[in-house]
Amino acid sequence: MATIIPLTDVRAAAASTARHPSPDAPDALVRAAASGTALAPGPVADTRGRLLHDLRISVTDRCNFRCVYCMPKDVFDSDYRFLPHADLLTFEEIARVAKIFVERGVSKIRLTGGEPLLRRNIERLVEMLAKLGDLDLTLTTNGALLARKARSLADAGLSRVTVSLDSLDDATFRAMNDVDFPVARVLEGIDVAAAAGLAPLKINMVVKRGTNDASIVPMARHFKGSGHIVRFIEYMDVGATNGWRMDDVVPAAEIVRTIDAELPLQNADPNYVGEVAERWRYKDGSGEIGVIASVTQAFCRDCTRARLSTDGRIYTCLFATEGHDLRALLRGGFDDTQIGNAIAAVWRARTDRYSEIRTANTARIPRVEMSYIGG
Ligand code: SAM
Repeated sequence: MATIIPLTDVRAAAASTARHPSPDAPDALVRAAASGTALAPGPVADTRGRLLHDLRISVTDRCNFRCVYCMPKDVFDSDYRFLPHADLLTFEEIARVAKIFVERGVSKIRLTGGEPLLRRNIERLVEMLAKLGDLDLTLTTNGALLARKARSLADAGLSRVTVSLDSLDDATFRAMNDVDFPVARVLEGIDVAAAAGLAPLKINMVVKRGTNDASIVPMARHFKGSGHIVRFIEYMDVGATNGWRMDDVVPAAEIVRTIDAELPLQNADPNYVGEVAERWRYKDGSGEIGVIASVTQAFCRDCTRARLSTDGRIYTCLFATEGHDLRALLRGGFDDTQIGNAIAAVWRARTDRYSEIRTANTARIPRVEMSYIGG
């Protein structure tokens, strides 16, 4: 396995790299597939035999939080150029492309961003996607607007919700979201979502050393026995703006040891092949936690996720530098079969395994931001 070496601080380079790619960049692969010979319909595998199974859709690149590890304030400030509205895929375009992805084997769709609850009338999109068939249709949110929206999302057909929550300590949480948002309002959103039937909830906590690692055990203890599943996530070198350093990563093995010392755990089997989180159950039978070891134990081998950016580009890896422009096809008069061909061609050519080959050199490559590509 490749050695993982710390990144130098890339923040200085952020201003030039934290930009969206040109929306009209010609994309030979997509255009050739859309106008060329039809590929066989149905599920499609990449160069390593990984089937296309999950689709994450970023419905907005905007967020009401400025989490220090994701959209740091000094980069995502009032001068930052978010996408203009006309560049965003419309709900009709998203639903159309999602249907084509489903025909190509996708059975799990996650709405994300940015903060997906900021997209006006997001419930209408949920309703349109829920009609596509027997899908696992979920959404990841920071929870700020969840108490207000959970009921209408459930009514629209959302299956479940994942809430990001980095600490139960109010001061730590306010410092991490960097907009002084109180933890109590996220906890209220979690309760309303559970009551609305969006359960079991997953609670995502990104662990950054020296910032919120003291919150690991309190977080586990708080949700133990609630039916909700806390997932502790290793801090990743996504995007180009968070100044990631290996020293800031708390390895998943250390997270498990820390919890196990106070709340004994035992390893549990994955629910399905390719599950991102490694599962651990409380020995007293009061529930489970997950750890997502994207840095220390790369899971590229089983990765079946495609991402659709806010402006309609497909990315085949969270750490990708280039996407493929589907919006040009959606708005260019191409039919569903041609667009399906393009998606299949992109997936068939996929070679990504970034986390397996992460080095100082790969970590320095400018990447698109997580808010745009969809976290
Ligand atoms: N705004 C929504 C939210 O807060 O959940 C959805 C978008 S957010 C980018 C999706 C997830 O990515 C969150 O759980 C967030 O904590 C996680 N995330 C963002 N930056 C990360 C990083 N550098 N390392 C690990 N996880 C990260």
